[in-house]
Amino acid sequence: MVITGRKVIQYMETIAPMKYAEEWDNVGFLIGNPDKKIKRILVALDAIPEVVKEAIDYQVDLIVTHHPFPFRSVKSICQDCSEGKLIIDFIKHDIGLYAAHTNLDIAFGGTNDVLAEKIGLHSIDILSPIVLEKQSREEVFKEEKEKRIGMGRIGHLLEPSSLQKYAKEIRKKLNLEYIRMIGEPEQIIHKVAICTGSGMSYLQEAMKQNADVFITGDVKFHEAQKALQHGIAVIDAGHYGTEQLIIPVLAKGLRSWGEGKIEVMESKINGEPFQVII
Ligand SMILES: [Zn+2]
Repeated sequence: MVITGRKVIQYMETIAPMKYAEEWDNVGFLIGNPDKKIKRILVALDAIPEVVKEAIDYQVDLIVTHHPFPFRSVKSICQDCSEGKLIIDFIKHDIGLYAAHTNLDIAFGGTNDVLAEKIGLHSIDILSPIVLEKQSREEVFKEEKEKRIGMGRIGHLLEPSSLQKYAKEIRKKLNLEYIRMIGEPEQIIHKVAICTGSGMSYLQEAMKQNADVFITGDVKFHEAQKALQHGIAVIDAGHYGTEQLIIPVLAKGLRSWGEGKIEVMESKINGEPFQVII
């Protein structure tokens, strides 16, 4: 099998179908020539300039990312603006870009499942099941039953733990410099809800399902206050912190699918924009 961009699209459809993506999202083959033969792929969370430079240096044919680029509509492509320069770099070096974003969050085995497994959840279920348009209720039900699709996950800890102890454990397991915790440190955690990335819009769902703690990233001040008032603990493990785990998983999947015909690299760039000063 000769691997082209189109073949990668077909493979990615099997792990994160584009129809799962949120309406506002921008996913799929976003830059480049889908008919180009692919020999080398770089997997990263974002197509930031450092990652694109890495791709140019490694002479890769395609970058597979979680976050889309471009995300919003582009009105100009000029060398003197950051987004335009990046697009020109892609085209100049004949590098393609494929993004699987909310469809990968929702899919079975995607970002949320990977995080749920990493932080020791069992009896994992979907936090917010999705209903796809143009599908009958029976079809969606069948799909959910077979593949467990939807945003976020909810599960239990094998052994209950105090919030503080569990927060420390998560920091260690995710290999993070720090995490933020909202709630009473000694409260006991049994049931855990998660949503990778910026998931605070699912806090309500976590409360409805009686989760003791909600783990996500990008928690704002007033959202933290609200959680405290409602008595649900929150652990902010960061947007990057909760999603970085998907890079090796995506790379491994592509590698085994490619059966040695493609070289799949994981980006070595630390895409965490925040630095901690103590
Ligand atoms: Zn994200």
